[in-house]
Amino acid sequence: MVYFDNNATTPLDPVARAVWITAADEAWANPSSPYRASARVRNLLEECRERSASLIGCATEEIVFNSGATEANNAVFAYLAGCARPSQSVLISPVEHPSVLEAASHSFPDRVIFAEVDSEGVVDPESVRALLRKHSPAAVSVMAANNETGVIQPFESLATICRERGVPYHCDAAQWPGKMPASRLSACDFLTGSAHKFGGPKGVGFLRVPAEINDFRGQLGGEQEGRRRAGTENYPAVAAMVAALADREANGFDDMEERVARRAHFEARLLEEVPGARILAAGRERLWNTVSIVLPRHENHRWVMKLDREGFAVSTGSACSTGDGNPSHVLAAMGRSPAEARRVVRVSAGRDTRDAEWNGLAKAFGNVWRRWDEKRSDSALTEVVSI
Ligand code: PMP
Repeated sequence: MVYFDNNATTPLDPVARAVWITAADEAWANPSSPYRASARVRNLLEECRERSASLIGCATEEIVFNSGATEANNAVFAYLAGCARPSQSVLISPVEHPSVLEAASHSFPDRVIFAEVDSEGVVDPESVRALLRKHSPAAVSVMAANNETGVIQPFESLATICRERGVPYHCDAAQWPGKMPASRLSACDFLTGSAHKFGGPKGVGFLRVPAEINDFRGQLGGEQEGRRRAGTENYPAVAAMVAALADREANGFDDMEERVARRAHFEARLLEEVPGARILAAGRERLWNTVSIVLPRHENHRWVMKLDREGFAVSTGSACSTGDGNPSHVLAAMGRSPAEARRVVRVSAGRDTRDAEWNGLAKAFGNVWRRWDEKRSDSALTEVVSI
């Protein structure tokens, strides 16, 4: 199988795997226990904290390790609601991941305000500025990059606008690290990420909590993570996550232009192979690995099945909503009709995806399309013959 669903999850990077296995064998002691073996793991964990903070560009004590972005997003909204005045709202974008949409509406019932997005799903910072003046929300939450379309939000400008008004800014950055330089996220107050999106293990992630906040209790129980997230830390998984991030930071971004060119070449070929197909948000700044395609005919799950038979794994959009049968809320917010949204296929490459694989995928789209077309002309012929 050629894997083109890296926004859903990535395979484990070899460097992360090696670190994980060694740590699981040699550093399995509970970091909170009193003897030297535990103190060693405690120190190693703190080294991981220091290393990830320096990659992101924040203070070491601001990093909280946890199970990933869903947990972090839930914890952030619960905390923000606890600080908010009873009638205060929260401002989010309508293209957020369900873990933000659901957590926001659970913690701020009937008090979620949505920022406007344009037809490509991009938030306008000036409209956020106006909404901040009008509603004085408790916080703003807009993601770094969209998991379905790859569109990059103006999160740096949003962080500045929020800072000017003294409103906390949360950024769900699950799709950013590993693909783009993590240090660009440093202006976000709250920041959430998941290791399995950048070559680390599943079920481990991080949250940045601003240093001045000392009453954040993401999960209650023991005193781990400075009381901000109770539960025995999974040091081997944390170590693997930090190794994956450091490796991608060290090797990943020199060839960004080539990566974008590779994607552009794929898009051009795809449009030749499947006439009438369209690329969503084609003219906007997008992650180099993501292409969201509106196909001219046939529902996306049928394309996914056919492409799977051709040896390519792609998806209908977010893995979190696969199977719920509803057209994507992201595409709805972009003004796409449900019928159109059901014809969207998402392709998301990995860091090692080669030209031949991109070309192979474009060709596979063409093969699937032509076979359907042949069937159509066959049945049209049968109709004519039988008249
Ligand atoms: N936010 C975004 C933008 C995502 O793409 C995802 C994963 N699909 C999540 C949050 C949730 O991540 P996890 O499932 O690792 O908790």
